[in-house]
Amino acid sequence: MLRSITRSSSLGSTSLFFRFFRQFPRSYISRSSSATAGGNIRRVSTPEAAGRQLFLRRGLRFPSAASGSLNGQFSRLSLRAFATQPAPSYTELGQDEAEKLGFEKAREEFISECKSKAVLFRHKKTGCEVMSVSNDDENKVFGVVFRTPPKDSTGIPHILEHSVLCGSRKYPLKEPFVELLKGSLHTFLNAFTYPDRTCYPVASTNTKDFYNLVDVYLDAVFFPKCVDDVHTFQQEGWHYELNDPSEDISYKGVVFNEMKGVYSQPDNILGRITQQALCPENTYGVDSGGDPKDIPKLTFKEFKDFHRQYYHPSNARIWFYGDDDPVHRLRVLSEYLDMFDASQARESSKVIPQKLFSVPRRIVEKYPAGGDGDLKKKHMVCLNWLLSDKPLDLQTQLALGFLDHLMLGTPASPLRKIILESGLGEALVNSGVEDELLQPQFSVGLKGVSDDDVQKVEELIMNTLRKLADEGFDTDAVEASMNTIEFSLRENNTGSFPRGLSLMLQSIAKWIYDMDPFEPLKYEEPLKSLKARIAEEGSKAVFSPLIEEFILNNPHCVTIELQPDPEKASQEEVEEKNILEKVKASMTEEDLAELARATEELGLKQETPDPPEALKYVPNLNLSDISKEPTYVPTEVGDINGVKVLRHDLFTNDILYGEVVFDMGSIKPELLPLLPLFCQSLLEMGTQDLTFVQLNQLIGRKTGGISVYPFTSSVWGKNDPCSKIIVRGKSMVGRAEDLFNLMNCVLQEVRFTDQQRFKQFVSQSRAKMENRLRGSGQGIAAARMDAMLNVAGWMSEQMGGLSYLEFLQTLEQKVDQDWEGISSSLEEIRRSLLSRNGCIVNMTADGKSLTSTEKFVGKFLDLLPENPSGGLVTSVARLPLRNEAIVIPTQVNYVGKAGNIYSSGYQLDGSSYVISKHISNTWLWDRVRVSGGAYGGFCDFDSHSGVFSFLSYRDPNLLKTLEIYDGTGDFLRGLDVDEDTLTKAIIGTIGDVDSYQLPDAKGYSSLLRHLLNVTDEERQTRRGEILSTSLKDFKEFAEAVDSVKDKGVAVAVASQEDIDAGNKERSNFFEVKKAL
Ligand SMILES: [Zn+2]
Repeated sequence: MLRSITRSSSLGSTSLFFRFFRQFPRSYISRSSSATAGGNIRRVSTPEAAGRQLFLRRGLRFPSAASGSLNGQFSRLSLRAFATQPAPSYTELGQDEAEKLGFEKAREEFISECKSKAVLFRHKKTGCEVMSVSNDDENKVFGVVFRTPPKDSTGIPHILEHSVLCGSRKYPLKEPFVELLKGSLHTFLNAFTYPDRTCYPVASTNTKDFYNLVDVYLDAVFFPKCVDDVHTFQQEGWHYELNDPSEDISYKGVVFNEMKGVYSQPDNILGRITQQALCPENTYGVDSGGDPKDIPKLTFKEFKDFHRQYYHPSNARIWFYGDDDPVHRLRVLSEYLDMFDASQARESSKVIPQKLFSVPRRIVEKYPAGGDGDLKKKHMVCLNWLLSDKPLDLQTQLALGFLDHLMLGTPASPLRKIILESGLGEALVNSGVEDELLQPQFSVGLKGVSDDDVQKVEELIMNTLRKLADEGFDTDAVEASMNTIEFSLRENNTGSFPRGLSLMLQSIAKWIYDMDPFEPLKYEEPLKSLKARIAEEGSKAVFSPLIEEFILNNPHCVTIELQPDPEKASQEEVEEKNILEKVKASMTEEDLAELARATEELGLKQETPDPPEALKYVPNLNLSDISKEPTYVPTEVGDINGVKVLRHDLFTNDILYGEVVFDMGSIKPELLPLLPLFCQSLLEMGTQDLTFVQLNQLIGRKTGGISVYPFTSSVWGKNDPCSKIIVRGKSMVGRAEDLFNLMNCVLQEVRFTDQQRFKQFVSQSRAKMENRLRGSGQGIAAARMDAMLNVAGWMSEQMGGLSYLEFLQTLEQKVDQDWEGISSSLEEIRRSLLSRNGCIVNMTADGKSLTSTEKFVGKFLDLLPENPSGGLVTSVARLPLRNEAIVIPTQVNYVGKAGNIYSSGYQLDGSSYVISKHISNTWLWDRVRVSGGAYGGFCDFDSHSGVFSFLSYRDPNLLKTLEIYDGTGDFLRGLDVDEDTLTKAIIGTIGDVDSYQLPDAKGYSSLLRHLLNVTDEERQTRRGEILSTSLKDFKEFAEAVDSVKDKGVAVAVASQEDIDAGNKERSNFFEVKKAL
C-alpha cells in the first residue's frame, strides 16, 4: 500500500547508517499500516499504548523513535539485544549437522557490531543461500527475498507479492496472511516489493508463534494457490467489473487502486520519473509497483510464468535472526528446499547495470494538480545523478552517507539551508543519497517553485555544490554530523522496526547483487578509518573530491521539471472511461452476460467465509501461551525541587532519555494553530548569542537530539482534555548536563525574531500538510470527525488537520503584513507555557545514571519561571457536526464515519479492543478491501474519548463504503464465532497490547499512561476483560456500533466527480469543501 520514496521522509539521511531509521524501504508493501495499527492519526488506544501521537513527526532530529508517522505496529525491539552475551545458548551448529540437512557452511563470522554470530549456508541441491544470525535478541526475524526484476510496468512483482499470501498448499484458505494478522503475536508481519526484489519478513518474540509464521510464509511463497486460481489475480491485480450488462464496465483490483493512489501524489510521481529517467535501459526503467495504465495489460499467464521463474530456491536468499535454535532453522528450511532442483533463475534474474550517460538530460512532465491556488507556483524541480556504473565499496559509501548528512541532514546543513532560504520554493523533495539499489544515486529537488524560477533553482543547486566542493565544511558541522552518526550507531534505535529486520534490509541491499552479505553489518572499521582520514587530511580532502567526482563532473545527470496540470486528473479519468467503453462496445451480448456472471461469481467467492475446517490449518497459539498479567514498566514517582519526576530504571546502554512536559491549558484557543510553528521556532531560530546554525550544531555535537511537539488526547471519564507540550531529548549519560542546558536554552533563550525563517516554516508546513491530504486523507478525515466530536480532537485538528492547513494558507501573507503581531503571539505562547507549576519530568536510564543526573534536572527546573498556573482557558470549541466532503485532485478516495459510543450509553470494557480488531480484520477487510477494491478499510476505537470511527484508504467507492460501515451492527448480530476464532481474536489483541518496546519507548509509554490516568490496576482489569471476551460481548457491541450508524458523522476526502455523484444520489448528503 504504501509506496515510500524514502528520501522525502527522512530528509536526505538515507544512506548506510540512516537506513536504520527508515520507516519503510523503497517499496510497496502488502497492507496499509493504517489498516492495522499504524497510520498517522491512528490512535493506539488500548490502555497500554494510550494517547495519540499525531505530532511525533516534528522530532525529525530523532531519526527513529520520534519519526513515527507510521508508528505503532512495528514497535518492539529487544531490550537486551545490544548489551548481551555473544554466545548463543544453543550448541554449536556443526558442519555435520548442516551437511545432513543438505547445507554446506560457506562462511562464519562473529560480528561485534550486532554481537551476533553469523553463518552463511548454501543449500547444496538448489544453491539457495541462508544467513543464520544468532544472538540473544528474543525478537526473532525471518525473511525470504527473491530477485524479481520486472520487464514492464504491469506490476507483476507487486501483484504477486499480494497474491502469494492468499492461500497455499498447506494452508488452503482465502487469506492465511489475514488469519496471522488476527491471531498471532507477531512483532512484524508484512511484505515489500522493491524495484528489483520482493521481501517477505516476519518477526515474533514467541518461538512457537515465530515458527508458525515462518511455515505459513515459506509455504506461501513456494506453493501459492494464486498460480492456479485466476480469482486471486483478479482480486489483487485487476479485473473488469460489470454488475449488470446495462451498466458501465469498470476496473477493480487492490493493487490497481493502491497504485492509483500512489500516482495521485506529486512526490511519488517525481520519485518514479527520477528512477526511470536515471536508468532507462535496465529494470529500473519500469515500475515494479505497476502503472495503473499498464496494469490492465497483464495476463494471468504472464503472472504465473513470473512466479515459476523467480520464486525458486535457486533465486532465494533467506535470513534468520535471533535467539532460536540454529539447527531448527535449517531443519525447517530443508523440508521446503529439498523439494526443488536447481534452476537458472539466479542467472536470469541478474540486474544489468545502467551504463553512464555521456551528456546530461532534461525531462519535463506534468502532474495532476487541483484547480485552485496559484498554479504558477506549483512547479517541482529536481536534479539527479546516477553516481557510478557499479556498486560502491563500503568505505566510499560510508563517506557519501556522511557527506549526505553534512549537506542535507539537518536544518542547519548548508545545501538544505541555502536552497530553502533562497525563497525560490516551499520545501525540499526527494533529496539525498539513495543506495539501496544496484547503483547509488543522489538527488536534490525543490517543490512549490514558480515557473520563472525553475532555471534559478537549478543554478542555485549547482553553485552551492560547487561552493561546498571549493570551500569544504566547517569543523563544528563535521563534528556534529560525526556525533549524530556515532550516537545513532550506539543507540541502535530502530524504533518500531525489529532490529533483526533492519539488519536484514541492510545486508540484503548488497547480498541481492551477489555481494558480501556480512560487509554491510560491519561498520566499525570503515568508520574508524574515515574518522582517521578526516583527522589527518582534514574534512575537505575527504569530501570535496566526492562532490567533484560523483556530482559536479558526472555527466549522468537528469534534471526533471514537473509542471502542475489541473486537467490531468480528469483527463486520465476520461481516457480510462474511453478505453472501458471500447472494451464494452467490442463485446457481444453473450460476452456481457458472461462478464456479469463472472463478476457475480468473484463477488460471491469473496464474500463467502472460509469454512471452519479450513481455518484450522493455520497454526494457533492457545490462551495458555498468554500471560495473564500486563507488562509493567518500572516507575518511581518522586519530585525534584517540588516538581513531579517519573523515573524508569531500565538498561539503556549509557543513554539518558528525558522528557519535560508543560501544560498547554492556559494557551488561548486562537493561538493553537501557531503551536506547531512555535515548536519548530524553538529549535530553528537561534538565540542572542547563537545563530540557529550554531545552536543546531551544538545540539548535534552534545546530544542525540531534542524535539518539541504538542500532545493532546481525551481522558477517559473526564470532561477536560489532556493537552501538553512535550520536550524530548536524549544524550549519553555523561552529557546530561549539556542536554538539560540545551533544553533550557531552547525553551528560554531562543528569540522569535527571524521573520524570513518563520516564513519558510510556514511554506514547508503547508507543503507537508498538502502532501498529507493527498497521501493520508484518512488521517485528515479522522481528525476532522474527532474535531466535531470532542475538544481534544478539535485542538488536534487546529494543529494538524484541515483547519491547520487553512490557517497556514492565510498565514504567509500575515507574516509579511504583521510580523510584530505574530512574533509577540509566539512570546505569549511561551509565557503561558513555561512554568514549574504543572510541569512533569520523565527520565529513563539505569538507576545509577538517574541519580547522577538529578542535579542537572534540578538546575533546569530552578531556571523555570514560577508562574502560577494561569487562568485555565478551557475551550469547549468543536467543529459543527455535519457530513463533509473535502475535494482534492485524486483518483481514489478516503471515506470515514464516526460517532461517540459513550454518549449512547456504552460502558468501556476490554472486549471492545477485541471486537474492533475483529471488525477490521473480517467485515471491513472483506467488504471494503477484498470486494470493494480499496487498499484498506479499518475501524478504530479511541477508548479515551469514546469515538468509534470507520476509515477507508485509497478507496474507489464513496457511498457504498458508508453503507458497509452502517451494516456493521447487523454483521455483529449475525456473527457466529467458534471457540478457535474467538481465541485467535483475543490473542491478536494481546499481541497489540503487549507490543515490544525499546527502553526509551517503555519509559515514554509509561509517561503517556501517567498523563492519561491509566493505572496498572486498570490495565490489569482491561486485560482480564480482553482475555474473557465472549460472543455475547460481540452481540452487545452491535448496539454501540448502531449509534454510529444513526447519529455518526461522515467525512470523505475525495474527487470532485465522486462527490458530485454521491450528492446527486443522496440529495446533498455532503457539505462540500474545497481543499487543494
Ligand atoms: Zn501493495
